Amino acid sequence: MSARRGVTILGSTGSIGCNTVELVEASPDLYRVEALVANSRVDILADQARRLKARLAVVADETAYPALKDALAGTGIEVAAGAAAVADAADLPADWVMASIVGAAGLAPTLRAIRRGATVGLANKEVLVCAGQLMMAEVKTHGATLLPVDSEHSAIFQVLDVKQHDQVEKIILTASGGPFRGKTREFMSSVTPEQAVAHPNWSMGAKISVDSASMFNKGLELIEAYHLFNMPEEKIDIVVHPQSVIHSLVAYTDGSVLAQLGSPDMRTPIAYALGWPNRIPAPVPRLDLASIGTLKFEAPDQTLFPSLRLAREALRAGGSVAAVLNAANEVSVAAFLARKIGFLDIARVVERTIEGVNHRELLSIDDVLAQDQVARRFAESVIGRL
Ligand code: NAD
Ligand code: MG
Repeated sequence: MSARRGVTILGSTGSIGCNTVELVEASPDLYRVEALVANSRVDILADQARRLKARLAVVADETAYPALKDALAGTGIEVAAGAAAVADAADLPADWVMASIVGAAGLAPTLRAIRRGATVGLANKEVLVCAGQLMMAEVKTHGATLLPVDSEHSAIFQVLDVKQHDQVEKIILTASGGPFRGKTREFMSSVTPEQAVAHPNWSMGAKISVDSASMFNKGLELIEAYHLFNMPEEKIDIVVHPQSVIHSLVAYTDGSVLAQLGSPDMRTPIAYALGWPNRIPAPVPRLDLASIGTLKFEAPDQTLFPSLRLAREALRAGGSVAAVLNAANEVSVAAFLARKIGFLDIARVVERTIEGVNHRELLSIDDVLAQDQVARRFAESVIGRL
């Protein structure tokens, strides 16, 4: 029997993390678990660590350390806490690392995995939004492998022939349109966090669910695609496809358009990244096209969703604009979830933050982290003045 593949899951207690744990747990002959990392959910983390016989379990929140230590006492599983321990966990010798922390908090540990030359399944799109150029350069320098987990990017990765890169006319990202598709700005001005996180097709963490409702998610994915596939902004289109059956498409110069389809279930793109370059079974509902009958498409409404314009402008501007957009969006989504601002304020705060901060070139990850902090403080002050 060949040696089992070492796996680390950054953000194991989240929506992507739990789905990854399920797939890993289903094949104990194939995988052994090095580290599991979470923010503060000790109950779920400790249970996962026991079930998967992890070598190390880490919580970012230091106040949760005693509870984690207690929960894993006598198991032989190492425990640690704090931001430095989170990044250190990525150094353990796992061949495959799932980057599924939410937000810029995932930058440092993802970079550590890349610098070891690991194969990284990337769900944490904010890493590429904030630091795409630097991260892609690090991947190259250290011979790491970056496998997209975001369903749209997994779809493109599966149908984009890198040898024909110069014969690609466009890549087309599909978007469900979220829960507020077809609504008015007046309607959106008074929506609650509960309405915003109730996604019609996908079950996901709170932040990405709000991003889907505002379509900032598609804006972040546009920036993610630009870096992952080395594709200019004007060659990346967005089409709304409310059923989320076609996960994205690549259009070639001869008029051929290739797509990847599947049920809207993240276990398929996670399994693709976990099994790559092979395919492994995933227990997802099978696609039944006859029962779906019709697939629908429409152009995105740019007036209803200023996020799409802001993301395109950020890509064209370059430098730190995308990192600032991301930080301001993280701060405003948190404020919206805490009921401190309205839904439409999210894009307002992002735009004012982009206009208000001094932009700079990002020459190192430290530059990115510093600019992230500047943008967060600025966004907080914009929120204070709303
Ligand atoms: P989630 O909120 O459900 O989970 C986030 C995970 O990150 C949790 O395990 C949490 O404990 C951990 N975490 C948060 N802050 C941390 C910190 N400072 N240090 C260490 N761990 C921390 O989010 P999710 O929906 O699983 O999304 C995770 C990432 O994947 C996001 O970037 C999201 O955009 C992306 N993504 C998610 C989906 C999906 O279907 N859920 C699809 C595509 C992409
Ligand atoms: Mg996606």
